[in-house]
Amino acid sequence: MKDQSEADVVVIGGGIIGCMAARYLVEAGRRVTILERSAIAAGASAGNAGILAFPEIVPIPAPGITWKAPGWLLGPLGPLAIRPAYAARLAPWLWHFWQASSRASFERGLKVQAAMMRLAVAEYETVRKDARLASFIVNTGTLDLYDSEKSFAAAAPGWARKREAGFDFHRVGRSEIARLQPGLATQFEHAIYSEDGLQVSDPAGFTRALAESLREDGATITIGEAAAIEPTDAGARIRLADGSVLEARTVVVACGAWSKTLAKSLGEAVPLDTERGYNTTLPATAFPLKRQLYFNDHSFVVTPLKAGIRVGGAVEFGGLDLPANFKRAEALLTLAKRFLPGLETEGGERWMGFRPSMPDCLPVIDRSKAAPNVLYAFGHGHLGLTQSAATGRLIAELAGQQKPSVNLENLRFDRFSGR
Ligand SMILES: Cc1cc2nc3c(=O)[nH]c(=O)nc-3n(C[C@H](O)[C@H](O)[C@H](O)COP(=O)(O)OP(=O)(O)OC[C@H]3O[C@@H](n4cnc5c(N)ncnc54)[C@H](O)[C@@H]3O)c2cc1C
Repeated sequence: MKDQSEADVVVIGGGIIGCMAARYLVEAGRRVTILERSAIAAGASAGNAGILAFPEIVPIPAPGITWKAPGWLLGPLGPLAIRPAYAARLAPWLWHFWQASSRASFERGLKVQAAMMRLAVAEYETVRKDARLASFIVNTGTLDLYDSEKSFAAAAPGWARKREAGFDFHRVGRSEIARLQPGLATQFEHAIYSEDGLQVSDPAGFTRALAESLREDGATITIGEAAAIEPTDAGARIRLADGSVLEARTVVVACGAWSKTLAKSLGEAVPLDTERGYNTTLPATAFPLKRQLYFNDHSFVVTPLKAGIRVGGAVEFGGLDLPANFKRAEALLTLAKRFLPGLETEGGERWMGFRPSMPDCLPVIDRSKAAPNVLYAFGHGHLGLTQSAATGRLIAELAGQQKPSVNLENLRFDRFSGR
């Protein structure tokens, strides 16, 4: 790559967050280059479940979670796993996670997520008005299933908070569940149905179509790996792994789970880690799936996508370098077969993705202190697709020195530094 000292904005990372940030920056009249090391939608944005999970405002670190989590860790292929080789490195993240589960942090996190989701709903409406993207967003409705009266009752306070935040849904019983999704095992007596439930029919295709629409609107997509960033008088300088240099007035770091290294190159420590998730995409003929199904007591989802039926979820802490353990994807398929007895489990394609996760499960949307023309947009964990358009709006507001639509105080990169 040759030097391009004229760049206006460089967005590093061509996942859904980087592409949405680019979308709003282009709309604001900026000349945008997306710098992606591999290909558009090369990371978590390629294989996620495609759910626009707007009602998911209840933070995962909740009071009492530290008593529940050890139980989830018991089975080697259960909903939560820590790879032994990674356990020591995870300790600081877990410490912050535990702190985030205090009542005060939980309540604060819930308010922040509710504000983010309100913006997410509004901004996705604008995305739906773009004819190049509209067809990717479909309304299938969401069925949240619970194994027992006890687990349904335990989830009730969370649903009450979602209702307070303005989300609409209703409780359904056995016969309604069977109508909403024929072929489910009869054990499910309690569920919540959200008729408005939206999803993206093809997460990778959506991100690529978005990138293509940006190209049509004048953005440039460049392949190259950012290795470090440093401040300059006029903006920031990006040093690439191939030795070349790129200068820009504004730089956006949107490298998902890989963003930490670039923040570190500016001397800014961020406790970002990755919650690895697994899935299998089965042929569309594997099951007559009508809508997205959340199996809440087992931490996995089944979604009908253009590519087929995607069965996935769970969380594995193992960093960015350890090899995938696809037994986890198989374990989820086995569970799915138990709950959808007619599911054909042959012929699937397995995938592992790196959720970019902060300990309080809130993203980082902020301005670097070391280099004020560098903006951070990463750490969206389980909700990056859902919050991508909202993040794009907020990044464009930060870049334009406007008042952000959401108070960003709790999304600061240094919120764990004890300032
Ligand atoms: C199994 C699973 C299911 C999920 N389901 C959902 C869901 O249903 N709904 C939802 O809202 N969210 C879901 N998520 C979360 C969502 O996928 C992520 O939060 C989101 O994709 C993160 O987007 P991103 O752009 O930040 O990161 P990524 O998509 O990982 O993109 C980062 C990009 O940066 C590039 N990059 C990295 N380092 C550099 C560098 N140094 N220089 C240049 N480029 C670089 C990478 O190649 C990559 O393309 C799921 C995640 C997983 C793993």
